[in-house]
Amino acid sequence: MSDYVLVINAGSSSLKYSLVDAASGAAPAVGLVEQIGEAEGHHSHRGPDGELSTKLKVENHEDALRAALEAFSSHGPSLDDVELAAIGHRVVHGGARFGDPALIDDELVAAVTELVPLAPLHNPANLEGIEVARRLFPDLRQVAVFDTAFHQTLAPEAYTYALPLELRDDHGIRRYGFHGTSYAFVAAEAARLLDRDLADLNLIVLHLGNGCSAAAIRGGESVDTSMGMTPLEGLVMGTRSGDLDPAIHAHLARELGKSVAEIDQLLNHGSGLKGLAGGNDFRELSERREAGDARAQLAFDVYCHRIKKYVGAYYAVLGTVDAIVFTAGVGQHSAAARAASLANLERLGIELDESRNTASGADARRVSADDSPVAVLVVPTNEEWQIARETVALIR
Ligand code: ADP
Repeated sequence: MSDYVLVINAGSSSLKYSLVDAASGAAPAVGLVEQIGEAEGHHSHRGPDGELSTKLKVENHEDALRAALEAFSSHGPSLDDVELAAIGHRVVHGGARFGDPALIDDELVAAVTELVPLAPLHNPANLEGIEVARRLFPDLRQVAVFDTAFHQTLAPEAYTYALPLELRDDHGIRRYGFHGTSYAFVAAEAARLLDRDLADLNLIVLHLGNGCSAAAIRGGESVDTSMGMTPLEGLVMGTRSGDLDPAIHAHLARELGKSVAEIDQLLNHGSGLKGLAGGNDFRELSERREAGDARAQLAFDVYCHRIKKYVGAYYAVLGTVDAIVFTAGVGQHSAAARAASLANLERLGIELDESRNTASGADARRVSADDSPVAVLVVPTNEEWQIARETVALIR
């Protein structure tokens, strides 16, 4: 049997897919169908026989997956030739129930459906992707890989909010954490780069993409993470506020007359870098900052200050730290964000090497000084490969 996995990441109006060789990480085809349900959608597919970029109306996720299958036929590779081993689905919220990937069956679908109240923006779309793939590939095994699973190792003191305990026990209001697939991949890569056993390492990993989070990882297990019951808590993100005084919610309602839905929208989609500086794209923000734009500078400063606070907090949680690892779009590409977030931490044993930090590179690399007791690493994440590996590991 091959090690090829079709990895599916279904969003509310998009379907991202890639064909991944779980053994090597090679991805001979990647594609994205966007604006599902809108008057005009878009489909891109890159395969061995060429690239497709086309506008089309996509009614629903089933249409989207059918379009993907047509693109495999027309632009390769042929799914008949690669003989898929399985389909791996990214599922955002696995609640307290899923600490590992799980084979998809009716019972799993029911369990993920039960978790919809915890992830109303994400789980329904993930379920849609699962249902459609089960219809179109009835004979293939399918696996759910949860974003929350990696953090199921958190101890009660790390995952419990200081609220009446019944809210945790009866309603599931607790920290779950996200980006787990990325953390699992990046932690293993960091150990490889350091030529150490992951079981012996204490890591602080900073996943800085559109969504941003931090994790404290001891011996390959998550001990704390910045996202909470939902992905809104923690670091400043592209459009999410991250940490706030919880009383701000009531204030927004009472004094500014905002509804619950408006507050949810504001904090998830109109805050973070977008709220501070008018745009969520970090590259654009960096260009504006370099050109002297004061709002862009403030947004950058708030963003990096928050990261630094979490580095300090997780340093204390771990006691000793072997490496701080930056990943995802901003973490991998913004030397300025890495430098500002770790400035003046020499007394904690954290010292960047300026020329290493500013040198560009696509591979995993060390950016700290040789005599920095804490290594600082840049490690590209690869969530699709991790999903493919976990999928194959489960079915074998
Ligand atoms: P997602 O969470 O959507 O997977 P990514 O990990 O791709 O996001 O990260 C997207 C973010 O990374 C965007 O804010 C983008 O501007 C930023 N980014 C990408 N390349 C660069 C770069 N060269 N310099 C600064 N920021 C970058």
